[in-house]
Amino acid sequence: MAEIRLKRGRDRSLLRRHPWIFSGAVQSVSGDPDSGETVDVLSADGTFLARAAWSPGCGLCARVWTFCETESVDDAFFAGRFDRAALLRRRIFPGGLPDAYRLIHSEADGLPGFTCDIYGGFVVCQFTSAGAERYRAVLTREAGRFAPRGVYERSDCDARSREGLPFRTGLILGEEPPENLTFTENGIRYFCDVRRGHKTGFYLDQRENRLAVRNMAAGAEEVLNCFCYTGGFGLAVLAGGAKHVCNVDASAEVLALARKNAELNGFGPDRFECLEADVFSYLRQCRDCGKTFDLIVLDPPKFADSAAALPRAARGYKDINLLAMKLLKPGGILFTFSCSGAMNETLFSQVVDSAASDAKLDFRIVRTLSQGPDHPVSSAVPESRYLKGLGGIRF
Ligand code: SAH
Repeated sequence: MAEIRLKRGRDRSLLRRHPWIFSGAVQSVSGDPDSGETVDVLSADGTFLARAAWSPGCGLCARVWTFCETESVDDAFFAGRFDRAALLRRRIFPGGLPDAYRLIHSEADGLPGFTCDIYGGFVVCQFTSAGAERYRAVLTREAGRFAPRGVYERSDCDARSREGLPFRTGLILGEEPPENLTFTENGIRYFCDVRRGHKTGFYLDQRENRLAVRNMAAGAEEVLNCFCYTGGFGLAVLAGGAKHVCNVDASAEVLALARKNAELNGFGPDRFECLEADVFSYLRQCRDCGKTFDLIVLDPPKFADSAAALPRAARGYKDINLLAMKLLKPGGILFTFSCSGAMNETLFSQVVDSAASDAKLDFRIVRTLSQGPDHPVSSAVPESRYLKGLGGIRF
């Protein structure tokens, strides 16, 4: 087997079982491994550290499959990882598996560079690393065990470009998912566009947070759902007893699907309004004309891709949080999220606290939220705790 040997002192993160190896830590490579090939990772003195997938030409040049020297990376290994992931989901959903959930969450399920989401009888998967790409056949076969109808590929995310892999989408196994694929989440029905939607079609990671928002929406006359995508939080507040929600997004395409989702659940445009606008400008517009809300949801796209982008991202988060807090009626509720993995919970809380302080209002945080449990956090990979949310009341 090909081997990579690390520079002296560069084995510390691996010893803590963090699965990423950066090219700057590598002293030498022997055996001329191909892209995605499994290599043994050795410390400077030749001690076995891990078995990893090799991604030549990539800053993150190897991702660990296993830290166990006696474990081979073969069909049985991948079957075992799927079994483990399925067991975890059975434990976290003791009442039965939901219609739609994440089955494999990359590093946090021991399969770096591979994600796999279930929508009814279909599996939608993404291969985002050279290692996952190399084992595509066995990963697809394993995914097929959970897909009575078909396995569809959505390998069209930026991570693939970083690995030098071309985008690839399409059916890999079974039948084509229908254009109007639907699933149910907490009693609400959704259309899901697995071909063109964000991620694999839906923000499954917000399932429990949609429920948290819904549980605080009773009686809200006016709700503002910012960055609404296909309307998840908007439908949740109406199901929770809100009277009216204005859903804002910059994309006409996602708003069209949001409208269809509202119709599917029997909500007309009188209660579920859609507005194509830039949220930053719209919040200012509301401020300038004195419009106020009982509940606001802020679920923006990732503002920070890396630590270097954090200062600018923090300003963006503070800007929208400050504006939103000022638009709340006294007693109004704000749910605010950040899905930037580079921004940790402490920094996010600081941003929200300083927005409240600048807005000169009393903001009481009553909910601290994270990604759903089918998007587990690996205790060795702080970056896998990427979604953070706070819910609070303004007085
Ligand atoms: N809350 C959603 C997910 C939000 S994804 C859910 O639970 O399903 C982020 C959304 O923000 C995308 O739909 C994107 O089109 C939109 N977006 C990005 N930048 C925007 C901007 N400046 N103004 C309005 N919408 C924006």
